[in-house]
Amino acid sequence: MLDADFFRRWMTATAASVEREADRLTALDSPIGDADHGSNLRRGFAAVTATLEKEAPDTPGGVLTLAGRQLISTVGGASGPLYGTLLRRTGKALGDASEVSEADFAAAFRTGIEAVTTLGGAAPGDKTMVDALLPAVDALGDGFAAARTAAEEGAVATTPLQARKGRASYLGERSIGHQDPGATSSALLVAALAEANG
Ligand code: ADP
Ligand code: MG
Ligand code: MG
Repeated sequence: MLDADFFRRWMTATAASVEREADRLTALDSPIGDADHGSNLRRGFAAVTATLEKEAPDTPGGVLTLAGRQLISTVGGASGPLYGTLLRRTGKALGDASEVSEADFAAAFRTGIEAVTTLGGAAPGDKTMVDALLPAVDALGDGFAAARTAAEEGAVATTPLQARKGRASYLGERSIGHQDPGATSSALLVAALAEANG
């Protein structure tokens, strides 16, 4: 079973890897975006860990809804509302249980990803974070390590795609040949699940 502490560790581990990889995320956002993805997420997840420490929600749903609200209010770019919606809606779907099973989490995470596609309109193959998140949730039944591998492969597989959503889509065919920054950060988010578990 996964408790509020597990979800707190998930957010802390995400903040740490976003901090470590911020320059790489920003570099990926340079040729096909506006070179701010690393700084956007670094600021957002630092605010998430600070607010989780201060408010100390005591349920899985409480941790994720607070984290999501914090991302929405701190990150200006496209990724803030999208990641914020992902976490907030996942948290809402978990309700007020004090512990949830991995299967409950997988179902809630799918609800969160569906909210991202509703908000942003991205379909699989549009070269967005959805291309890492969807394979990850499909693999979650096989465990967190399998989800991490699926997310990383999904992120790498965005390279040959032409972007159809977000800033990168303005480049048309010139977006081909670059890995999507948001899919890359989604792989970090999913990898942090395995860290929180271990
Ligand atoms: P901005 O593009 O506003 O500067 P970021 O650089 O922080 O925001 O985030 C860019 C990432 O957001 C992209 O790499 C992509 O993965 C994701 N993204 C952008 N638009 C969408 C969308 N409509 N649906 C899903 N993901 C999107
Ligand atoms: Mg950007
Ligand atoms: Mg921007």
